[in-house]
Amino acid sequence: MHRLSDEYEALRKTVEEFAREVVAPVIGDLYERGEFPYAIVRQMGEMGLFGLPIPEEYGGMGGDYFALCLALEELARVDSSVSITLEAAVSLGAMPIYRFGTPEQREKWLPELASGRMLGAFGLTEPGGGSDVPGGMRTTATLDGGEWVINGTKAFITNSGTDITGVVGVAAITGRTESGKPEISTILVPSGTPGFTVSKKYSKVGWSASDTRELSFSDCRVPEANLLGERGRGYAQFLQTLDEGRVAIAALSVGLAQGCVDECLKYVRERRAFGHPIGHYQAIQFKIADMEVRAHTARLAYYHAAEKMLAGEPFKKEAAIAKLVSSNAAMDNARDATQVFGGYGFMNEYPVGRFYRDAKILEIGEGTSEVQRMLIARQLGLADL
Ligand SMILES: Cc1cc2nc3c(=O)[nH]c(=O)nc-3n(C[C@H](O)[C@H](O)[C@H](O)COP(=O)(O)OP(=O)(O)OC[C@H]3O[C@@H](n4cnc5c(N)ncnc54)[C@H](O)[C@@H]3O)c2cc1C
Repeated sequence: MHRLSDEYEALRKTVEEFAREVVAPVIGDLYERGEFPYAIVRQMGEMGLFGLPIPEEYGGMGGDYFALCLALEELARVDSSVSITLEAAVSLGAMPIYRFGTPEQREKWLPELASGRMLGAFGLTEPGGGSDVPGGMRTTATLDGGEWVINGTKAFITNSGTDITGVVGVAAITGRTESGKPEISTILVPSGTPGFTVSKKYSKVGWSASDTRELSFSDCRVPEANLLGERGRGYAQFLQTLDEGRVAIAALSVGLAQGCVDECLKYVRERRAFGHPIGHYQAIQFKIADMEVRAHTARLAYYHAAEKMLAGEPFKKEAAIAKLVSSNAAMDNARDATQVFGGYGFMNEYPVGRFYRDAKILEIGEGTSEVQRMLIARQLGLADL
């Protein structure tokens, strides 16, 4: 896997060119205005990116999750808002329906989601807590007359309020187990359902061209058949979804880390100080060497996690390691790249300032760095001491 097959390499190259030729020229302006990149998303849909790991019978490309990761990495080399839009739509929106949905749910939602004409979202986090699930979960769904009645609030949900958002998977407490623990299930809520309110976009530090909203549910009723898979399986469903998602976020982080190297390599040849291009100075060279080391080692970590995942082997520890290492690499590289650019690093005219703003969330979303360490420690058998 460390050497890409011809097929993977062809995909990587196609997305690399798309990012450079289509995304790079326009994304800076969209980002500054906080506008969702509809035209870019439409073209990504036409390229099949939203259907990469989804079988052809559901309108997908019949590829695998690693193919998705390669696409995320190449997009994030240029822009993370576009990359996270794809990540959330596929990994959090479509994949749970593919993995856990009934045949009817798959047929109903997957063809549109795989085409990118419709975006899906996944609502787990609540205002009261994202790391501690179910401890912080308050959203409930109760059965009444053949319908689920949902009440509660979800915070920070990606892709949940665009013009083309079609469905949100909502994790909710649907009862109590015999031991009194909350029983969690996932309910599919179509956009526009009465009682489902999407608030206006958050004002964010980064990922400014992506869509993030708070959602509220007030006696929101959907058919009983909108239960995703089995009742009470919601916890297991999102644990699996998040394990895969961590590999995807790792790929996105590696893309950002590599994008920093790309931008610096161009700049240090052009920018001159004290009679030389700044790349002449060893202090700058060493910074860029360290950045390349971080991007490279983080890439190996996510390739390794993806390899285990595709082989059907346990990959929880490797996914957490990949996410931790690559989000650190993204943060460190964004800081160093901004430094290499000097004052221009602080200007929106160059992408590195955007990379700097986009890097921090990578240490938070889909499990904070502390949560990754908790997962790794647990896998090392330290939880029961
Ligand atoms: C832009 C953006 C997009 C997002 N998209 C989605 C989405 O699409 N769907 C979704 O469901 N969620 C989404 N999230 C939510 C994200 O996954 C959570 O923000 C994240 O999991 C952290 O949860 P929290 O914000 O509630 O922080 P908290 O859980 O409140 O954590 C606060 C701090 O305490 C630390 N902490 C918590 N518990 C422990 C512990 N036991 N030991 C040590 N430290 C601890 C955390 O690491 C963190 O540093 C998104 C968030 C953002 C910002």
